[in-house]
Amino acid sequence: MGKIVIITAPSGAGKTSITRYLISKYDQLAFSISAATRKPRAGEKDGVEYYFLSTEAFKQKIAEQAFIEWEMVYQGSYYGTLKSELERIWALGKTPMLDIDVKGAIHVQQQFPDSSLSIFIQPPSVEELKKRLESRGTETPETLAARVNKASYEISFSHHFDKQIVNADLEKACADTEAAIKEFLGW
Ligand code: 5GP
Repeated sequence: MGKIVIITAPSGAGKTSITRYLISKYDQLAFSISAATRKPRAGEKDGVEYYFLSTEAFKQKIAEQAFIEWEMVYQGSYYGTLKSELERIWALGKTPMLDIDVKGAIHVQQQFPDSSLSIFIQPPSVEELKKRLESRGTETPETLAARVNKASYEISFSHHFDKQIVNADLEKACADTEAAIKEFLGW
């Protein structure tokens, strides 16, 4: 078993941008592709952003104990990290980066306390987070409200993680995250 880097944050805090930046910079890091039951957004491909599964197929995998962790992140949509995905990445000699929600991150951390690094990306404020989500243009008023409510709740868990990094400036947040990962992996 290898090491694991977990990046968690409320939706819209910038964790995906930070994760993608680091993966494109370091060949030794690989994006852990989660399974999810939500519909692909425009431009998303099965097996790239997610393994898009039907709810039935996802529940089958739960029954087979195929997940390290899974959550119903939003009402009706399941997301989960497959054991086979971590094994696939370790077999390549790389370290998986998990971009997952706060509850999922806590579950992974509990299972791998010594071999994981968990980083919480903090938005500068809930107001700013709301603005970012609005400008992304992917949310309906209902899903936006759900994400903003969930964000306030998730921020209250930030102290559970190994590192907290405020994303007020994306470049600085990327550099801070990079430094934490380098230290953890001994680069
Ligand atoms: P989105 O629908 O915007 O792609 O993702 C919604 C949320 O689900 C994000 O916070 C994302 O990090 C989280 N997520 C993605 N994959 C997983 C996973 O495998 N497990 C958990 N617990 N959350 C995930």
